[in-house]
This record gives sequence, C-alpha cells and structure tokens, in this order.
Amino acid sequence: MSPASPSANPHVAAMSAYVPGEQPQGGGWVKLNTNENPYPPSLRALEAIRLALVNEGAALRLYPSPDSSPLREAAARFHDFDAARVVAGNGSDDILNLLIRAYAGPGRPVGMLDPSYSLYPVLAAAQGAEVIRVPIADDFTIDPAAIARCGASVFFLTNPNAPLGVSFTPAVVRKVAEVFPGLLVVDEAYASFAEGDCVALARELPNVVVTRTMSKAHALAGLRAGYALCPAAVAALLHRVRDSYNLDRLAQVAAAAALDDREWLNITVGQIRSTRDRLIAGLRQLGWMVNPAAGNFVLAAPVSTSRAASPETAAHCFEFLKARKILVRRFPNHRLTEKSLRISVGTEQETDVFLAAVAVWMEG
Ligand SMILES: *Cc1c(COP(=O)(O)O)cnc(C)c1O
Repeated sequence: MSPASPSANPHVAAMSAYVPGEQPQGGGWVKLNTNENPYPPSLRALEAIRLALVNEGAALRLYPSPDSSPLREAAARFHDFDAARVVAGNGSDDILNLLIRAYAGPGRPVGMLDPSYSLYPVLAAAQGAEVIRVPIADDFTIDPAAIARCGASVFFLTNPNAPLGVSFTPAVVRKVAEVFPGLLVVDEAYASFAEGDCVALARELPNVVVTRTMSKAHALAGLRAGYALCPAAVAALLHRVRDSYNLDRLAQVAAAAALDDREWLNITVGQIRSTRDRLIAGLRQLGWMVNPAAGNFVLAAPVSTSRAASPETAAHCFEFLKARKILVRRFPNHRLTEKSLRISVGTEQETDVFLAAVAVWMEG
C-alpha cells in the first residue's frame, strides 16, 4: 500500500502558478512577445564570464560573493547610489519576492496597479497575502489618494507600466510616496527606455524602493540578475530573507560589466527607441489605436476596414501572425488591454516583417 499524498499549506494548495510568455521551440520565429532585447548583450559581459572561467573554471569550485558585491558596486556607480543600500537579486523577480516576503503576509495585503505585472499576485498568494488592485483610469492617470487609502502594506507601482506601456512622471510618483503609509516599490524594469526615473526618490525617502532588471535594456534575460535601490532599513531586511548565495558567480560579474558599459547601453537603447517610433508611426498609419509607449514594447488595438477594434479582432490578428511565426502577446482579461496586442520592439528587420504581415492581415 502506497502512502497518501501529503497535504500542503492551504494557501499554496489553492494558488496558481505564474504563466510566462511562450518561449517557442525551433527557429524561424519573429519573437515579439516577452520584451526581450533583440540585440546581443555588451561584449564586456561576455568577457567577464570568460575571465571568471579561466584555469578550467577553477573559480566555480568556490561559493560566490554572498551579497553580490561586484554587481552591487557597479549598480552604485551606475546610479550614483550608496552600495550598502543596493540589494541584488536572481532577476528582479527575486527582489519582488523578497519584498513581499519581508513586508506582506496574512493581514498585510499587497497593493498593485490594475493592470500591471501579473507576477505580483502569484508572489502574494505564496505568502498568504491578499491583493488589492487600484485601477489605472481610462486616460492612463493614477490617483495618489486611492493608493494612499488602499490598505496595502507594500504597493507595486510599475513604471513604465506593463502591459499598457505608459509612464507616470516622477512628480506623480513622489505624490504617491508622500501619502502612502506603507512601502512603495517602483518597478522600473523598463525605465531605461523612458524619459525619467524615480531613483532620486529611493535616495531621499524612507519608504521608496526602486527595482531594476538586467533582462530588458541590458539584454541579459537568460542570466537572471536584477537589483533594488533601497532605504538602509529595507536593505537590511531584504538581506535577512534572501537566499544566502542568491546570485551565481557568472551572473554577478557579467551584470556588473554590463552596467559599466554605458556606451553599449546608450547605443542600444537609442536604436530600440528609434525602432519603437517607427513601429508606432507604421501602426498609426494603418489606423490602429496605439498607446503612448515608454518601454521597449507597444500596446496597440488592431483594426481593419472589415473589423472594428474588439477582443475578437485582437485574437484574430494574433492567430494570423502566429500562423506566420510572428509571436506577440495578448492580455484578454482587462478592459484596457482586451482589444489590443502587445508587441515587443524587435530589430529593424523584425519590425519590417511584422508591419508587412499586419498589412496583409488588413486586407483579409
Ligand atoms: C520583465 C519584468 C520584470 C522582471 O524581470 P527579471 O527578468 O526577473 O529581472 C519585473 N517587472 C516587470 C514589470 C517586468 O516586465
């Protein structure tokens, strides 16, 4: 007789896993669905990995820096921030998880903008924390007073917002920070593509954390590295609850080298912004409704002469593109996104292929 399946924690048994964007197998795809950088990373990142592997990888025998010193120091240089107040994570998703582990739980809800990143509710559920959603208005504004009274212990403000693509000014975020009584986390995964950022708020205020990732602008999604710029007291708490070696040796040095290569970043971000402008202009010319875009992606509602903007039209266009091995993303579960497709900004050539396929779809 085999033993019965043991019962799990009820809040874990009841939760669902995060659903990541599709990673298609095999070649030939124009992959515009998960906001990865279409260009290879800084050569300095590769050089740092090679250097860490000399003598037949002897250094891999040894545990890495427990607090990711190389990465923390590079992030401090990059942002002109105190390295003692930088906490590194195995991707910024790790940092988001640590923030929830430290600040949320039963009776201590997680707040988030609606719509925003669908990972937050999964991380909240894993800690038994309730989720409170504060809506973004139809004109893409947010209400600081509504966030202030929402009752969350920690609030995630995704800026630029994903999946909408719009950004909120540092002045508006400051207003939120001044009235929200809990910890305000500004998730700046896409800030390198936008006009401003909220690093000064994290430098100044005791209740603001800014999180950053190496996955988007730095083209290192496969590496898994991110970090938080924190008030000193928050950094101390996150160090208590993180894994003792939460970043591997190669990720630490490669991410640090990538941060030090500012020239690579400026060139790559400049190219992606320019392609983004061309993508937006191309879609507007075809009559699509396009959101203002501050990240490396564009949210746009497909229309053609025979089809009005609707969830069905978006689904039809999505399937048409997928059949041609062009992958974009759909967010059918929110009124501000259900009629739209989210298109990551690819290379110039990928953008041409995408726009040409859209032109064909418009004729159907
Ligand atoms: C991509 C993304 C992240 C996380 O990136 P990591 O790969 O875990 O560093 C965090 N927040 C938002 C809003 C993102 O889009």
